[in-house]
Amino acid sequence: MTESEPQRPNCRQTPQRVGLLGIYHETNTFIESATTLADFQNGYWLETSRIRDEYQGANHEISGLIEVIDGAPDMELVPIFYAMATPGGLITRDCYLALLDRMMQLLDEAGPLDACLVAPHGAGVAEGYPDMDGHWLSLLRQKLGVGVPIIGTLDPHANVSQAMIDATDGLIAYATNPHIDQKQTGIEAARLLVNTLRGEVSPVQLLVKPPVAISIEQQFTSNQPCLGLYALAQELEQRFALVSMSVLLGFPYADVHEMGSGFIVIADRNQSPAAISQAEEAASILSAFLMEHKQAFNGKKSGVQAVLRDFENHPEPVLLLDMGDNIGGGAPGDSTLILEHLETGGFSDFFICLYDPESVAQCGEAKVGADVSLFLGGKRGLKTRVEVLALYDGHFTEDAPRHGGFVHYDMGPTAVVRTMGGNTVMLTSRRTPPYSLRQLTALGLDPHSFRGIIAKGVNAPIAAYGDVCPSIVQVDTPGVTQADMTLFEYKNRRAPLFPFEESV
Ligand SMILES: [Zn+2]
Repeated sequence: MTESEPQRPNCRQTPQRVGLLGIYHETNTFIESATTLADFQNGYWLETSRIRDEYQGANHEISGLIEVIDGAPDMELVPIFYAMATPGGLITRDCYLALLDRMMQLLDEAGPLDACLVAPHGAGVAEGYPDMDGHWLSLLRQKLGVGVPIIGTLDPHANVSQAMIDATDGLIAYATNPHIDQKQTGIEAARLLVNTLRGEVSPVQLLVKPPVAISIEQQFTSNQPCLGLYALAQELEQRFALVSMSVLLGFPYADVHEMGSGFIVIADRNQSPAAISQAEEAASILSAFLMEHKQAFNGKKSGVQAVLRDFENHPEPVLLLDMGDNIGGGAPGDSTLILEHLETGGFSDFFICLYDPESVAQCGEAKVGADVSLFLGGKRGLKTRVEVLALYDGHFTEDAPRHGGFVHYDMGPTAVVRTMGGNTVMLTSRRTPPYSLRQLTALGLDPHSFRGIIAKGVNAPIAAYGDVCPSIVQVDTPGVTQADMTLFEYKNRRAPLFPFEESV
């Protein structure tokens, strides 16, 4: 790690120089395999101007950050470093230190900054650094000094720590799940930074962590109980004239002290000397609401057999959400459990995408039109004969506002096959979360031609498939992202914490 003297905020030259950086990862600590440097290199490793190349104009928070600073004649954006990997297991120590080292090196090379925009996820865990985001943000604060505003965005799945709050002047989380307001959140954060630099706002922020962990099953913000929680947050923001009131849904699959819900309230000291007490009052009202409705945030959990028994009652195509194999929560995306139930139950004309590089290679050798015998999905997967329908390079793009805000997708070599049972399976060489309908349409597949689409997610795929699928059913399946968090063994979580302890 690079060590050097903290830079003093230098004189306020015009234009004011605003840095932009972030390390972004949602870490599932219940996964055996680690997240390594290769995962970031295969994900997003963007230095200086490449950040702008990738995200300018995208539906992503960085796009919003860029847009606002570009539009401020007295500011200059200095893109520094942004690294992101698909959600996965614990980040190795070597990987984290390499990321940090490179970020600090580029920060040195960027020269003096008047402010810094940051884009962490907020649920990153590295080996030896359980609060990874709190750690790198604290180092950034040390380096820039207390007079340099650090403001940024968070994913609402962040398990926010006090260290993240202490190191920054303002963090604003996306207010939707699926996350379709990422760009808007970037715009809000960058406006706060601009107004802070101009002396028009003096932000003060507060973190409150109610003793409740919200089930992933109940984190869809267009439905209750989230609707009520977010509506109250918005109402309180106006009632107390707050700068921002963020709801953190939390990420249940990280065995860290901060796991669970939280609220970040930002108030303006310029508006009222009592800003912090107003923030406290607003947060306590929101906390009381969550505590009162905590049972509703626990979920109902329907297994695959129950879902298929009831299948005829749903208008088609039905979106079946495989909660236990949620790629966006770090799962492998290779479980064939639902497919096996479909095949043995005589259900045909379904679509499923599986991460399975070995089967892709076998299909590639066999060529289109051939029959091959495959072990689909994970090593304990489904052995079956399939017909190879098509082979692709696996690239497609998305330009609509979708969860994750990604533009360029790379699934690696990809095969589409049909099983003996009449179901269509897409096999990819890279884990690809189901955030874009283009995953099907770009490869010539018509989503309307299926009775059901199985997506490896819980809420995020709804932004992609909601318009196509009139029925959406969450399926409680086993795995490293299973809906019932009480089935995991936590050593480091807070206690008492609902639903682990009923009396909180
Ligand atoms: Zn998220």
